[in-house]
Order: sequence, then C-alpha cells, then structure tokens
Amino acid sequence: MYRSHHCGQLRTSNINEEVTLSGWVQKSRDKGFVIWVDLRDRYGITQLIFDADRTPEAMVSMAKSLGREFVIQVTGTVIERSSKNPNLETGDIEILVSKLTVLNEAIVPPFTIEDQTDGGEELRMKYRYLDIRRNPVKNNLIFRHKVTQEVRSFLSSQDFIEVETPYLIKSTPEGARDFVVPSRMNEGQFYALPQSPQTFKQLLMVGGMDKYFQIVKCFRDEDLRADRQPEFTQIDCEMAFVEQEDILNIFEGLTRHLIKSIHGKELSSFPRMTYDDALKTYGNDKPDIRFGMQFGELNAVAQHKDFGVFNAAELVVGIAVPGGNSFTRKEIDGIINWLKRPQIGALGMIYSRCNDDGTYKSSVDKFYDQDDLGQWAKITGANPGDLVCVLSGPTDKVRAQLSALRMELAERLGLRDPKEFAPLWVTDFPLLEWDEDSKRYHAMHHPFTAPKPDQIKLLDTDPGAVKANAYDLVLNGNEIGGGSIRIHDKATQALMFDHLGFTPEEAKEQFGFLMNAFEYGAPPHGGLAFGLDRLVAILGGQETIRDFIAFPKNNSGRDVMIDAPSAIDETQLKELHLKVNLK
Ligand code: ASP
Repeated sequence: MYRSHHCGQLRTSNINEEVTLSGWVQKSRDKGFVIWVDLRDRYGITQLIFDADRTPEAMVSMAKSLGREFVIQVTGTVIERSSKNPNLETGDIEILVSKLTVLNEAIVPPFTIEDQTDGGEELRMKYRYLDIRRNPVKNNLIFRHKVTQEVRSFLSSQDFIEVETPYLIKSTPEGARDFVVPSRMNEGQFYALPQSPQTFKQLLMVGGMDKYFQIVKCFRDEDLRADRQPEFTQIDCEMAFVEQEDILNIFEGLTRHLIKSIHGKELSSFPRMTYDDALKTYGNDKPDIRFGMQFGELNAVAQHKDFGVFNAAELVVGIAVPGGNSFTRKEIDGIINWLKRPQIGALGMIYSRCNDDGTYKSSVDKFYDQDDLGQWAKITGANPGDLVCVLSGPTDKVRAQLSALRMELAERLGLRDPKEFAPLWVTDFPLLEWDEDSKRYHAMHHPFTAPKPDQIKLLDTDPGAVKANAYDLVLNGNEIGGGSIRIHDKATQALMFDHLGFTPEEAKEQFGFLMNAFEYGAPPHGGLAFGLDRLVAILGGQETIRDFIAFPKNNSGRDVMIDAPSAIDETQLKELHLKVNLK
C-alpha cells in the first residue's frame, strides 16, 4: 500500500496515528539537527519532520539528500506542530517519519513548481506535466471537471442521452477548413475530423433519440487567433419536437444551474435582444451588458450643421463614458491614438465634455452649440461628469470601432467584474452573410439552419434580409453558445444548398445522406452547442482558455511538449499513398 492518507487530509484528530503518505518533495528546510520536508500531492501539503533526537541517523542523512520533486513514501506518526501554519489545512500537524523510501528521483525542474512560477509560457507548455503540478493549473482542471460533471448531471436530469458520434467523418461545413486524415485502405480518399457533430446529431433526431448531448472534441483548421485552439470541446445538444422557445428555456436552465452550483448565485431570467438591436445598441453581436454605455445614434442631430466629416458619414454614433469628463486632455489624446491604431482603424474621435454645471465643452464647438451638445448628451444618456465620445463613418466599421472603444474604456474603468455574470440571448440572426471574397452568400451559422418560415419567400428577392431562428448565448461579452432550429425537410434543405451555390449534384454528393434521412420521417428539431473551454474559463473568472485545457496548443497550433505536428516517415507516407515534397 503506497498510502493510508493523502497529503491534504490529516488534522489534529489524527494525532498519534501511524500513517503512510506518498508524494513529491515540494521543498525541504535543513536546520542541521532538524529537517522539514513539505510533501505534496494533488490534495495538499503535509509537513514531514526528521530530527536527530528521534530519527535514526541513516534516515536523517537520506532526508538531507532529498531533492525538489523527488517522489517519496513515508511512514510515521502524526504529531502536533510546535509552530502551526494557519495557511495550510494540515498546518496544525506534522509527521515524525520512521520510514522513508525514495520511489523515484527527479532532476531539477526547469521552473519552480509554485503558484507564482518563474517559468515563461513556452517553457511551461513544453513541460506541461510539471506545470500541472502547480496549484493554479491543477485547480483549473479540477474546476473544469466540476463544470462538466454539473453539465452531465443537469442534462441527464432533463432526459438528455449522451451519445458518441464518430471522429472520422466526411466534411461538415461550419465555416472553417477541415483537418483531414488520409485513408490507407481507400487510396486517394480522406476522412475529415468533425468541425462539430452537426449532421450526426440531426440524424440522431431522425433516429428518435429525442434529446441528445455530448461533451465532444471538435476540430477547425482556422488561422489561429489569440486564444483559439484548433481542437476544442463543445457541449453539443439537440432536441426533437421543439421550438426556439423550448431550447432557450432548457439551456437557460443549464446555465443558471451551472452558475448556481458553482458560484451559489441565482440568476433571474436572461434578457433577450435581436441581432439587429445588438448591433445598433452595442455595435456587436455579443455585447457585454455588465455595464451600460449604449450607443446613441446622432445622425439626426449632428448632421447638416456645417461639420463636413459628420455630414459625409453614413453613421454618426456616440457613447457616454461615465465619469469621463475627468479625463485630461492627454488622456483623451491617448484614447484617440488608441482608436487610430491599425487594429481599430478609426480616423479620429469627436468628444463633448459634460460639465458638472450642465454646460458642455466639445472638440467641435465651432459647429455645435450648447443645445446641440445637450441633444448628444440626451441621446447617449450622458450625465454631468461624463464624456460623450463620437465616431462617424460607414455603419459597419464605425459600430465595430465604437464597440472596441466601449470595451476598452469599460476595462480601464474597472466595469468588467469577472465575479459578475451577465448572460444575454441574441436572437434572429440573419440566415445568410455576403462574402466579398467569393462574391456569394454563405450560411451565417451553418447550412442546416432553418429560415424563419414566413421569410422563405424573401430568399429569392432579398436573401441578405432573411432571418433565421438562430440564437447565441452571450456571457459577459463572450459567445458561449449558439444554435438554431434546423431544416427538417428535403425540399427546403435543397433550396438552401441552391442559395449557397451548390449544384444539385454537389449537394447530393456531400449531403445526400442527410437529405435522404429527411425523407424517412424527420421530426422538427433544433439545438445548440456551448464552447466548453470558454465557458469554463469565464465561470472560473478568467479570460484565457488555454489555462483550462490540460494539453493546449500554442498560438501556431503546435503542441510543443510532444512536438506536433511533425513529419512522418517514408513508409507511412507510402502506405497512405501520399507524396510529399520535402524541402
Ligand atoms: N454545430 C453548431 C456549432 O458548432 C452548433 C449548433 O448549431 O448546434 O456552432
């Protein structure tokens, strides 16, 4: 038996018991005649004591030779500590060791295994197994386990069945590139790794499973943006005989259950907002509503006043920054420079200070009088002491720029409290999205999303205006989930493929299996998927998903620990019928 207890377990009630513990040497302190060793395992730290009076000499010298991260086993008696450590759960006791076995030695780790480590990101990733010994990473993984367990328990209680779907499949378009796997047994043919189990979960509905979920890996070969992983985990769900309302209710229930079980917080019912309103009010389809600063459109009051810049703009829009009148001229210049950086790309910013005495002072006083500026304040909801920041230009661009400014200022003003949870359903997404590069419409969500029934007619005349029963769940400015009501008849699915530029042959070739299934009694159905990595990170009050993934990839999609991707040898290539031009 390696141990009778773990390292976080023993208390004063165990005093005088003989125990056996195993773990890693966190650190040791050698005071000559007394040696203390902190023994660590997943559960905590227990202090061991070896002393010249009570411990055989041979063992004392063995204890002196223990290095950091040695794996040891000890047997000894639990005794009361003379100087207690209130910061440690086991801080009242220590183990007077009578038997010490070194189970394995360790070379010096490349960074310190402490909560605050001296190891940089790349080094920590290379030795991720050492990183995982550190509390912050370990606790995140335990936290993730807790979240997934709560997800499973909630969904199971609602009659969902977890079903596994295959990883070696045929491409499912979700807007990204597929990772492909060559088939050895079928020369020249490839599997694709699923971007999501979308078509399979729909087929499970045709199969009568009624309520399905799966905590599942998905793969998307996208150009990597910060904090995106090429493989990531979804909580994937689908339900039959449901309308949008049923789905929103169930998954609002799941989200509320998670926040309750993990943070003990009761959330009231989630607000909803249409996609169009979200863009108009926050410039963004995933608004952070923990704070205000809603957009106020100023065209009606700011145009036709001799200020050419505004007159020429498609949209003039502002936000009121709470307390922003206290910004110095230099601070405002800083904000303007921030906006002008290529990532944001604004040409400039107009502002109006709302003084405490009810007067205004703007950067365009030449063109706007106190009444005009009063209108600006009214429309943006500014109070005395605030700063109205105004941008102008083409609608889409300006909204994106002002949205970025809104988030940045909220961050600077400390309005994004990670302990506060502000969920929001964004509904009525457009069905299609125009793609400038390919000069055609793409499915905004995916090609299986149903248009709103009364809008199917519009597909021929104004495809861009067609709305779908598609929705996203947004939490604190992050899209944590999204889904839709699906098409469940062959004719509509064929029509959709047609609008997406597929010939009937292409549609049949790629999705014949789904359209065939729709001919065998497909129930109305819909669902959604949550991004688990991000959900866990937000629930954990953090932003970086990598910290909640045991073995993440770096920003270039590499696993630096196992060194993947990597070349494969000639024989393997041959077997796979692949020719690679190696440089
Ligand atoms: N398959 C979709 C996605 O991965 C989610 C869904 O529509 O259920 O975003």
